[in-house]
Amino acid sequence: MTVVTRFAPSPTGFLHIGGARTALFNYLFARRMGGRYLLRIEDTDRARSTEEAVDAILDGLNWLGLSGDEPPVFQHAGMQRHAEVARELLAKGRAYHCYCSAEELQEMRAKARAEGKTALYDGRWRDRDPSEAPAGVDPVVRLKTPLEGETVIDDLVQGQVTVQNDRIDDFILLRADGTPTYMHSVVVDDHDMGITHVIRGDDHLNNAFRQVQLFKAMDWPVPAFAHIPLIHGQDGAKLSKRHGALGVDAYRDMGYLADALCNYLLRLGWGHGDEEVIDRARAISLFDLEGVGRSPSRFDMAKLDNLNGHYLRETPDADIVDLVFERLEERSDVTLDTQSRERITRGLSGVKARAKTLIDLANGAGFYAATRPLPMNDKAAALLGDDARALMRALLLDLDSLDDWTEDALEALVRQLAEAQGVKLGAVAQPLRAALTGSNASPGIFEVMAILGREEARARIEDIC
Ligand code: GLU
Repeated sequence: MTVVTRFAPSPTGFLHIGGARTALFNYLFARRMGGRYLLRIEDTDRARSTEEAVDAILDGLNWLGLSGDEPPVFQHAGMQRHAEVARELLAKGRAYHCYCSAEELQEMRAKARAEGKTALYDGRWRDRDPSEAPAGVDPVVRLKTPLEGETVIDDLVQGQVTVQNDRIDDFILLRADGTPTYMHSVVVDDHDMGITHVIRGDDHLNNAFRQVQLFKAMDWPVPAFAHIPLIHGQDGAKLSKRHGALGVDAYRDMGYLADALCNYLLRLGWGHGDEEVIDRARAISLFDLEGVGRSPSRFDMAKLDNLNGHYLRETPDADIVDLVFERLEERSDVTLDTQSRERITRGLSGVKARAKTLIDLANGAGFYAATRPLPMNDKAAALLGDDARALMRALLLDLDSLDDWTEDALEALVRQLAEAQGVKLGAVAQPLRAALTGSNASPGIFEVMAILGREEARARIEDIC
């Protein structure tokens, strides 16, 4: 059997991180099993689905490297087919027309609730003769679900889950206007797409019991189910915006790398011992549904930061530098020309050590491209008192006699100057840092000076003298 999985987002909003994780698990499981991973856009709710959301979801998946193996299926396009299957069920006697009015249904529901029943429809049209149909009423089509026995799902994550059949409604397949319901469309599409494994959030577990009835009524093979627990916030409450339940595009904007986010989402709910760093290739070789935990995982921004910092350091500079330029292009206090781009490229690895995100990286490397005179942060400004500026003037004189503008030679020169002036190295190095970077924290100051080059370094020191 070739494994076929699908990610089936409803395009009513952005691709949130819970959805991204579901997509990732579907992708990894398909890859691990040598199968296919498909996308289905569940856009049957015409009022709430937007093209913008479809684009945002596909764009987010693409960024994460989770595009489907085939162009996405749009559920709405299958309406005729869904209606046809409902008619087939009617013909087979596995579904029936129901002519209940809205008032009748309301009464029925109130009664069922009062009696503590979960099946809210009482099946009153199930066996009624169609000749009793009231004139001028368009009926809905309902599935004839079994009245006795139980439905068992051997969920690959939740284990065996059982529901008594008398708790399952004869649910609606086609509305009175002939449009298929979501519940019905999902099953027809899963069958037609050849889905073998339905991997999705456990908020759909209840739907699965209804969907199983529909597969059975059509004598279709029932796919395997894996309902994965939802992601919660740090405090254990359901994930909300406050906890980081944002669209994946927000994570991209905040400077996270797609690989780091995927690694983080993988570890959120799936584990392989205590391995934290698991790249895509390794994830494909290891992923299994047995490793998915049964309890909700907690979203932890600090862990994501650490992992992202790791990926930033591991990714070759050449693969990151353009992303840093992109972020600096938006800033008005930097000049991005060939020279400053070159400086940033050379200085990037020195900046990486402290960075957790691309924003940190752009902020940390921005001084290489800063337009003179540099703005100073408060701590840097405080380093530039009279004594410090006198030292900088002395340094300028010494620098003029230096032939070899290299990190080592610059370090030797600054050390000599400190000694000659009877001050500690820091007394020269700190104001020098402030002058060259506008900050009190930066990569090694001799590296910075070497990369800036004689002309720019001198000019920046002169600016503060
Ligand atoms: N469209 C549903 C959602 O976005 C998923 C349905 C499914 O995976 O069966 O939550």
